[in-house]
Amino acid sequence: MRTIVITGSASGLGLATRQRLEADGARVIGIDLRGAEIDADLSTREGRAAAIDAVRASSDAIDGLVVCAGLGPHVTPTSMLVAVNYFGAVDVLDGLRDALEAGSEPAAVVIASNSIGLIPDEGTVVDTMLAHDEDAARAIGDRIPGAVLYGLTKQALARAVRQRADAWGHAGVRLNAIAPGPTMTPLLQGSLDDDTLGPLVDALPIPLERRAEPHEMAGIIAFLLGPDASYVHGAIWFADGGTDAVVRPDHF
Ligand code: NAD
Repeated sequence: MRTIVITGSASGLGLATRQRLEADGARVIGIDLRGAEIDADLSTREGRAAAIDAVRASSDAIDGLVVCAGLGPHVTPTSMLVAVNYFGAVDVLDGLRDALEAGSEPAAVVIASNSIGLIPDEGTVVDTMLAHDEDAARAIGDRIPGAVLYGLTKQALARAVRQRADAWGHAGVRLNAIAPGPTMTPLLQGSLDDDTLGPLVDALPIPLERRAEPHEMAGIIAFLLGPDASYVHGAIWFADGGTDAVVRPDHF
């Protein structure tokens, strides 16, 4: 039986992924603020360390990791986006890499967002996150509107995945990201209910003419974790109904 760790397992994409992987026969170790096997606050260094220690106490080796916990652009203070979406993801990734190396055909999947292609990279806060200076990145982040900072945390996360492709590949652990478009979860509902963010979400062109359901992301995550994706590594997989292709037809 494969053992898969999922952060953000209590809701939305993480919950749908848990249900899909359990139906496929996996053992899931969930991490979330509450209601998971491991309750931990990934916005803090202490919470991340406690979560990693608890995974190790539960299992020496893990076969998969899904880094899904995240906050939407409506949260305040906006620096929480930096803390959870970037540092809460990369610290868990790096902290569990050796447990993955001890697993069987191990793979990890990170949840980015199709907003990585919709927001211009303004440089500083992304570079500060990638330099792993959390206090400085949070301070800069508090001066950036959530709608922009959300995409920048996901840009940094997508780049962090690609920057790890060499080392993780040589270590035998596949690492990929998905870039979902609007998917019906409490996080998206928080944006839709916001007077400023709601119209921005509604303005996105979606050639498939609908938003996604969480199980559609879970299916891609299950594929990327499994044997049919055995040569997929360092990829950013867009699953956004075609929005990125329409907005940036000449980029990929
Ligand atoms: P969601 O709100 O349904 O689930 C997010 C989960 O993360 C929740 O269970 C929450 O408790 C957990 N979480 C938040 N802060 C945490 C913390 N400090 N410590 C531990 N757990 C914490 O949201 P979702 O839409 O399923 O989002 C999952 C991921 O998908 C996020 O990273 C989000 O940015 C990304 N995403 C979502 C969409 C979308 O439209 N829903 C689109 C692109 C990307």
